[in-house]
Amino acid sequence: MSLLAPRSHLLNGLNAEAYRRCIAEGADRVAARLAAVEGPFTGITPDRLAPTVDAVDLDRPLHDASAALDELEETYLRDAVYFHHPRYLAHLNCPVVIPAVLGEAVLSAVNSSLDTWDQSAGATLIERRLIDWTAGRVGLGPAADGVFTSGGTQSNLEALLLAREESKSAEDLSKLRVFASEASHFSVQKSAKLLGLSAEAVVSVPCDRNKRMRTVSLAHELEKCVREGFTPMAIVATAGTTDFGSIDPLPEIAELAARHDTWLHVDAAYGCGLLVSLKNRHLLDGIERADSVTVDYHKSFFQPVSSSALLVRDRTTLRHATYHADYLNPRRTVEERIPNQVDKSLQTTRRFDALKLWMTLRVLGAEGIGALFDEVCELASDGWRLLALDPRFDVVVEPQLSTLVFRYIPERVTDPAEMDRANLHARKALFASGDAIVAGTKAGGRHYLKFTLLNPETTTADIAAVLDLIAGHAEQYLGDSLVRAS
Ligand SMILES: *Cc1c(COP(=O)(O)O)cnc(C)c1O
Repeated sequence: MSLLAPRSHLLNGLNAEAYRRCIAEGADRVAARLAAVEGPFTGITPDRLAPTVDAVDLDRPLHDASAALDELEETYLRDAVYFHHPRYLAHLNCPVVIPAVLGEAVLSAVNSSLDTWDQSAGATLIERRLIDWTAGRVGLGPAADGVFTSGGTQSNLEALLLAREESKSAEDLSKLRVFASEASHFSVQKSAKLLGLSAEAVVSVPCDRNKRMRTVSLAHELEKCVREGFTPMAIVATAGTTDFGSIDPLPEIAELAARHDTWLHVDAAYGCGLLVSLKNRHLLDGIERADSVTVDYHKSFFQPVSSSALLVRDRTTLRHATYHADYLNPRRTVEERIPNQVDKSLQTTRRFDALKLWMTLRVLGAEGIGALFDEVCELASDGWRLLALDPRFDVVVEPQLSTLVFRYIPERVTDPAEMDRANLHARKALFASGDAIVAGTKAGGRHYLKFTLLNPETTTADIAAVLDLIAGHAEQYLGDSLVRAS
């Protein structure tokens, strides 16, 4: 084979035409697929799909992008899970806006890396503007700063690293305690482990019936902690719990954090969409008192994965993530005032994910994003009324954001374990049918089903139809179960 052939695949000024054709063909395939899908999923099983993927010989290239795209139809595109479909109601995944996808195409083609100025130039300035813009929306004040991250998990980890280093007992890790509600995200516990805290370090604070942290319990736990000679390292308030979309009482928690001189981290991975809401921004009141905030633009800003940030009130606290390497960011660059994002980040080489949000704000604007998020919150309210009026279902809490947690409860079935099985079966059967995808979780020890509504194209009619499908699958299970018992 000639040496020139592989070079024809390099993206550079000589191959511009091949680049254009290739990207356009990829976009054509995706557009055709998006228009063609009839449900969020085909229901294919791993056993049926794996042989198709396994059959690809990775040591025998096709030498042709069209052929590779044909193959991709079979290995991926035909059976992918499609978040843009109105009956995808499962996890915290949003349909994405076109300006953000355009940003994605541009950022991977230019391929800047956001660690240092000499690998990014303007990209660093754009990311900094977006951090300032978001911190302004939060109300963190003039000393705020932050950095884009790979997701809420990493943002929470870095926030707790800063909290640990700022804590007065940082030299004795076994003394440190972190307070988070029982509905907080599991990345808080994972972070505590990674940060070398003890196995009991995360104190789980009970929630009220609306799945919001009980501040009376928090106050009690904080006092107990101090009395027993431990140090409150951080309080993690969740603004939009993953399961219920509930928002902890931020002003009261901020009071308690101030009283105990403790770092306040607000995990707004989900609730950050309220920062641009035209109707419900007030639900985040109190967030401006946080020491650090997690925002996941890929949850409620209609951005592609990944797009997330950690914000801090006091930029000097980010020094705890700073290390100098002679090859990359020697101390001298600080004196020369050359902007280096790596000094604030847990990552080194890092994608220019900020460009997606930038393009979104430049094309659609914050109000456009806010209007879309308001629509899904409104839809959740309508869905809640539907569920509350339907005797077939039990619904857990009235939503503050866009999540509904409910379960099918036919009157004649009295065994809660049998109801658990019927609901678990309904979720599985629905997934296998590909008609709709819903999530599941536990509440009060029982199995529940969950709609996370992030698609403004979903209607109340879709919700009603999916509830009927769930009831049908659950009834099928209960009928079969009667047969099994007799
Ligand atoms: C999703 C979520 C996270 C984790 O974010 P990733 O982007 O998935 O890493 C953290 N906290 C909350 C409240 C979340 O909903």
